[in-house]
Amino acid sequence: ERLVDAEVDSEEQAVEAALRPKQLGEFIGQPKVREQLDLVLRAARARGGTADHVLLSGAPGLGKTTLSMIIAAEMNAPIRITSGPAIQHAGDLAAILSSLQEGEVLFLDEIHRMSRPAEEMLYMAMEDFRVDVIVGKGPGATAIPLELPPFTLVGATTRAGLLPPPLRDRFGFTAHMEFYEPEELEQVVRRSAELLEVHTDAEGAVEIAGRSRGTPRIANRLLRRVRDYAQVKADGVITREVAAAALEVYEVDGRGLDRLDRAVLGSLLKLFGGGPVGLSTLAVAVGEERETVEEVAEPFLVREGLLARTPRGRVATPAAWTHMGLTPPQQSSR
Ligand code: ADP
Repeated sequence: ERLVDAEVDSEEQAVEAALRPKQLGEFIGQPKVREQLDLVLRAARARGGTADHVLLSGAPGLGKTTLSMIIAAEMNAPIRITSGPAIQHAGDLAAILSSLQEGEVLFLDEIHRMSRPAEEMLYMAMEDFRVDVIVGKGPGATAIPLELPPFTLVGATTRAGLLPPPLRDRFGFTAHMEFYEPEELEQVVRRSAELLEVHTDAEGAVEIAGRSRGTPRIANRLLRRVRDYAQVKADGVITREVAAAALEVYEVDGRGLDRLDRAVLGSLLKLFGGGPVGLSTLAVAVGEERETVEEVAEPFLVREGLLARTPRGRVATPAAWTHMGLTPPQQSSR
């Protein structure tokens, strides 16, 4: 279990629910998405109808579930939450769709992981608010058309590019969520600290935000660990020193790299002079699986500009040397 994993862990869900902004005005950051969504929802309300289908793309932990709940709240509508992997058969989807109330928001997380037949059923449901339920098998099979009440589908995916174009085209509004700026994460930390009733000074919030990898979920998680430390080791107040000391205990460094990230970068620098070195060799040196290095550690290191994937292998950037407090070997002057 990594403290800096952006995916939600099962025990965390209840805590997270308490920290979710409930209205668009409370949602921090993502100014473009907020502005556009505000227009979409206002217009739908003014027409007295349901909002267009909304596609939210972006990395885990950036607020897609939260936004879908806000959409429902702003439309004064109920919400049903499910996910692509939970829908194995078209029949599963038909059951959900046919039980929706008029105006209901259906949040479909990881929509790119739905089965093919379900996906095709969804096309028709989104466009015509109708599904064909197939009864029977083989030549005797018949399609029974079923009318659906108008609803708003909110689909979420890590990458909009993963969706087949016919599905993508059926969304009236598509929003791409970006990683958050440090100042926005500071606001997230301050807001959550208030809700958790823990005192955080301005620099304490800055310190936590800077280690949160652009992701509100991680910011909230780090805040909870720092709060524990502050209660046990300090007087309950989160200052810069308290936050830094707490996150040192949890091995999350000043830029949000954890033990695994630092092991990868450390090996690349110390054993291979900064590369280029092949992924497999690097993985052996770190003592991890290839996939772990490639899929768990590298994406953030690449995003931070600390590591580059080149055709000749993995290469550390000058920023990596600085960050790890190491000096690059002297270039031979010949
Ligand atoms: P996703 O569905 O993209 O994985 P969530 O909506 O579940 O992300 O958000 C994860 C956590 O981060 C939630 O606890 C939520 O309250 C918090 N969060 C996300 N975005 C924001 C935001 N813009 N402002 C405040 N808190 C946020």
